[in-house]
Amino acid sequence: MTTDAPPDATTDATTGAGLVAALIEAAAATIAAHRDELSELDRAIGDGDHGHNMARGFEALTAAADEIAALPFGKALQKAGTTLVMKVGGASGPLFGSALMAAGKASGDDAPRSAAEVATLLDAAIDAVKSRGKSDVGAKTMLDVLAPVADALRTGGTTAAVREAAAAALEATRPMIATKGRAAFLGERSAGHLDPGARSSALLVDAACTVAERS
Ligand code: ADP
Ligand code: MG
Repeated sequence: MTTDAPPDATTDATTGAGLVAALIEAAAATIAAHRDELSELDRAIGDGDHGHNMARGFEALTAAADEIAALPFGKALQKAGTTLVMKVGGASGPLFGSALMAAGKASGDDAPRSAAEVATLLDAAIDAVKSRGKSDVGAKTMLDVLAPVADALRTGGTTAAVREAAAAALEATRPMIATKGRAAFLGERSAGHLDPGARSSALLVDAACTVAERS
């Protein structure tokens, strides 16, 4: 006998808790699937640990997913951020962690309901990365994907437009010369490679778009 199952808060992306659980699941899955690629990118212009760092962080988020998803939306983002800061070595953990913490502080108890509202949270996240990383757009980092994505959201972008903006912005990191992070030690030799943190940012944006399209 088949019955219509009642909405399950852990999988139904239309509830706040379900949305957070779905975001964690989708993000962790794409990071795990691209772990080797992320480390390979980091091997070219860094120290080869980006896939490991990100996978470790998102495994920690998966382990804490029930606890995080039970919180109001803003608090859930903050807890996810502190989890990344605590669990991930390397620059990317504290940077993505600070980004989530700032987005959480900028958010109320309810999940954003429009692209413009998501843009406001992402703007807070970007400011936190700039401040913690003493960095800005153009330094060949995660900011070079996150900022164009915020622009696409602000102009009312559909998920298709947001995905496209992320993909184009990622590709635009290839010719850049890194001036922040380990890749900056390579100077002009950092050109010709995608930035690993920009790649993981694009993967996370893609995963978030998939969840948004389902809800
Ligand atoms: P680490 O560089 O400590 O080994 P990861 O390899 O995990 O850390 O992360 C590297 C990524 O972090 C880079 O590809 C870049 O996108 C991002 N990053 C590094 N330093 C900064 C910074 N100062 N500001 C913004 N992003 C940065
Ligand atoms: Mg590294």
